[in-house]
Amino acid sequence: MANVVDTKLYDILGVSPTATENELKKSYRKLAKEYHPDKNPNAGDKFKEISFAYEVLTNPEKKELYDRYGEQGLREGGGGGGGMDDIFSHIFGGGLFGFMGGQGRSRNGGRRRGEDMVHPLKVSLEDLYNGKTTKLQLSKNVLCGTCNGQGGKTGAVQKCVACRGRGMRIMIRQLAPGMVQQMQSVCTDCNGEGEVINEKDRCKKCEGKKVSKEVKILEVHVDKGMKHGQKITFGGEADQAPGVEPGDIVLVLQEKEHETYKREAHDLHMTHKIGLVEALCGFQFTLKHLDGRQIVVKYAAGKVIEPGSVRVVRGEGMPQYRNPFEKGDLYIKFDVQFPDNNWISPDKLNELEDLLPTRAEAPIVSGDAEEVDLQDYDVSQGSSGGRREAYNDSSDDEGGHHGPGVQCAHQ
Ligand SMILES: [Zn+2]
Ligand SMILES: [Zn+2]
Repeated sequence: MANVVDTKLYDILGVSPTATENELKKSYRKLAKEYHPDKNPNAGDKFKEISFAYEVLTNPEKKELYDRYGEQGLREGGGGGGGMDDIFSHIFGGGLFGFMGGQGRSRNGGRRRGEDMVHPLKVSLEDLYNGKTTKLQLSKNVLCGTCNGQGGKTGAVQKCVACRGRGMRIMIRQLAPGMVQQMQSVCTDCNGEGEVINEKDRCKKCEGKKVSKEVKILEVHVDKGMKHGQKITFGGEADQAPGVEPGDIVLVLQEKEHETYKREAHDLHMTHKIGLVEALCGFQFTLKHLDGRQIVVKYAAGKVIEPGSVRVVRGEGMPQYRNPFEKGDLYIKFDVQFPDNNWISPDKLNELEDLLPTRAEAPIVSGDAEEVDLQDYDVSQGSSGGRREAYNDSSDDEGGHHGPGVQCAHQ
């Protein structure tokens, strides 16, 4: 992936930062047609934004400034003179914060930006409901304090002679007369660093590596209502290296499965088992919520719960991120447990039947009829119908002389 500090202008054109000039052009033409003020008077400044993004990204100098330093690079690089300021603040938000953010980025001058360090962070649903502060210990590279990240005494660092400081060497190998192969390989004298440090001038602490490992403890605030996959960023906390602006440490939340609750956006879902008596005669049960509260869930006598049906408790779902007093809902699906065979003596059944809703009248049987038994059946054993179909399929392969389909045709 292309290493750019900001993708806003790419987003405006709907392309990725790795897009070729051709792709930029194609996307620009399409969008410009769509948002041209003559055609689309309601599109506001959209056309101006598209044109601006296109102008910057197809100008190699401006693109370079933007990719490396973002908005501030363009402002300082002269891209934002005169009437351009308007469109600047339109795209980048302008104002004090936008400007300060830009300054922070460019404080380190023309330094390359290091890789972000991405770590998963496992959190329970309770943590996401209640919020949590946790400490995370990690080991990272920091510039060596003894040599200030120089690797040795001032002036000890010499450009590698073998590769002339490029870190790579080109080897030419003759494959056959008049036929050579050119190969590029990492310089072995300097290990691709492009520079060497004399043994005696080398920093004792970091042995010339310029960096050392340091254990760092980060305080991580998991806010109420955060989601699986949400990122918590610690700007500039990734590995340090000489001449490189450190990248960010990015923690990606990984929600652990909960044994009772399943989360869907702001809502919680759970299944609760009840008996037939509860399903018909009302009930109440106690629930332990994610913050430890006991919640008594009541369902009035006379209201029926059908097996597999769902009821909702409003406002007992997950808190919303940055608005934790607003909560989603709690959906409870009911698994109704019917009694076992012979749970009641046959003479009592009549009493029960008198209480239950009346049977549907059985249709009158006319003419010949056959009586069959309903047998117990275990779903896990599979159906015999499935097996018969499998037999049909295999008999087709053998010519099908005895297949039932053939017999049918003879009749
Ligand atoms: Zn050192
Ligand atoms: Zn070298």
